[in-house]
Amino acid sequence: MLGQMMNQPLLISSLLTHAERHHGTREIVSRRVEGDIHRYTYRDLGRRARQMANALESLGIATTQRVGTLAWNGYRHMELYYAASGAGMVLHTLNPRLHPDQLVWIADNAGDQAIFFDATFLPLIEATAARYATVKHFVLMGDRSLMPAETRIPNLRCYEDLIDQSPDHYDWPQFDENQASSLCYTSGTTGNPKGVLYSHRSTVLHAYASIAPDALNLSSRDAILPVVPMFHVNAWGLPYAACMVGAKVVFPGAAMDGKSLYDLFEDEGVTVSAGVPTVWQGLLGHTEANSLKFSTMTRTVIGGSACPPAMLKMFEDHYGVQVLHAWGMTEMSPLGTVCTLKGGQEDLSPAEKFAVQSKQGRAIFGVDMKIVDADGKELPWDGKTSGELLVRGPWILDSYFNRHGEDTLRFDAAGLGWFPTGDVSAIDPDGFMQITDRTKDVIKSGGEWISSIDLENIAMGHPAVAMAACIAAKHPKWDERPLLIVMKKPGAEASKEDILAFFDGKIAKWWLPDDVVFVDAIPLGATGKMQKNKLREEFKDYVLPTA
Ligand code: AMP
Repeated sequence: MLGQMMNQPLLISSLLTHAERHHGTREIVSRRVEGDIHRYTYRDLGRRARQMANALESLGIATTQRVGTLAWNGYRHMELYYAASGAGMVLHTLNPRLHPDQLVWIADNAGDQAIFFDATFLPLIEATAARYATVKHFVLMGDRSLMPAETRIPNLRCYEDLIDQSPDHYDWPQFDENQASSLCYTSGTTGNPKGVLYSHRSTVLHAYASIAPDALNLSSRDAILPVVPMFHVNAWGLPYAACMVGAKVVFPGAAMDGKSLYDLFEDEGVTVSAGVPTVWQGLLGHTEANSLKFSTMTRTVIGGSACPPAMLKMFEDHYGVQVLHAWGMTEMSPLGTVCTLKGGQEDLSPAEKFAVQSKQGRAIFGVDMKIVDADGKELPWDGKTSGELLVRGPWILDSYFNRHGEDTLRFDAAGLGWFPTGDVSAIDPDGFMQITDRTKDVIKSGGEWISSIDLENIAMGHPAVAMAACIAAKHPKWDERPLLIVMKKPGAEASKEDILAFFDGKIAKWWLPDDVVFVDAIPLGATGKMQKNKLREEFKDYVLPTA
């Protein structure tokens, strides 16, 4: 016997419809790439998203085709979030920090039909427009005044013209909630970037979970400033959660330095923010140097990389801002755990509370997690035993986009599929998870991935290099930076500068290793693979010249 409740699909468009109807006058404020502050309301967002949905259809983009964006956090980007997904297309957020070759590869792999881009990225699109195989339309996200007088970009269109030319009546289509809604590529694994394809259902459920009090605790009384970019796992889902609760939204645009952020926090009465630790270092540097305090901010979500204990202490003790240390992944939409104290922990001493809060947190409802040993056997939650962290849940990836037949999940004896996170962690008896290591071979610098394999492959192309291994070395500002370990060919000569110069033009500048160390031998395992865990151990206290 089935339940007798309405079978209404969970669709992203319903979030916008709700926000428009119930929070129509609530503001969305954006620092634009044009330099000024733009403000409008959810009602305006709804109207313009409908106009944009009409515009996308008039461009000939069909259901489930991909609409690429190359944009900072701002209201036009939010309009595209709702217009593309709401109309049944797939919003594909491209990460502008990647090397142009990678961007072109990703857009091709995704089959993007259009790329919408902020004026900041005009030179990038000018340089690469001819190389995209599937892109039929390029749209500059601004008005006529931002359009270049001359351009090599074919079919360059103006965003505001598209809006002006389109009617504001549009009935959001109803379809299966499992239909794809958005796409985000991650380089957090080996090889080429992989696409993570979210659905309407996964997105709406993730938004429900994220607003709960023990998660991000969001409400209509909040003013949310997502510093985390909208091209990083949909700004951790905040553009959806904000509509669900009707919170004020404040978008920082391209200005993510401490002063610009602080001014926006104060001017707009921001109550909650979210970003990677590096961003908060910049912000705290500014507030410390100028003896400033936060007058409205009550909490901030810190994730993407481990929150340094000193930062946690500074926010909580000095500024009275609660830190919500969170862990997740692109493959998890991204929220997996959030660190909030449990009932019964109120009376812990400050030191004990601090020890709990330094962990990555406990699973939010919807995320099931376990730690396993090398044979897949589940390990105890004693806070000491570490194992590989596996997860499952309705907003966790089942398989990567466009990679048919590839095994992604691990199946347990009961036949349940688990996603291996590549993180190693311990879980305490209260369910608080703490990351202790990583099995995946990548470097996370300032919240962005650097592929160690790509760097090794390039280094290996240098005529003097016999073997090269790239590992993460600790860095006070960026958390991790690449350290290249090189074994030269017998008799070959090459300096550190020669090796580094060899990377010129082949990678984004910020991927360049911070140092090169020459060694006589690189340890190899039985199958001839480099044993990077041994190298990581050997160089764990290595001090980079940039540190
Ligand atoms: P991404 O897919 O880019 O969001 O990266 C996800 C990965 O970042 C995770 O698998 C972890 O390795 C790392 N990560 C995310 N949040 C944290 C955190 N709070 N502490 C430590 N590592 C984290």
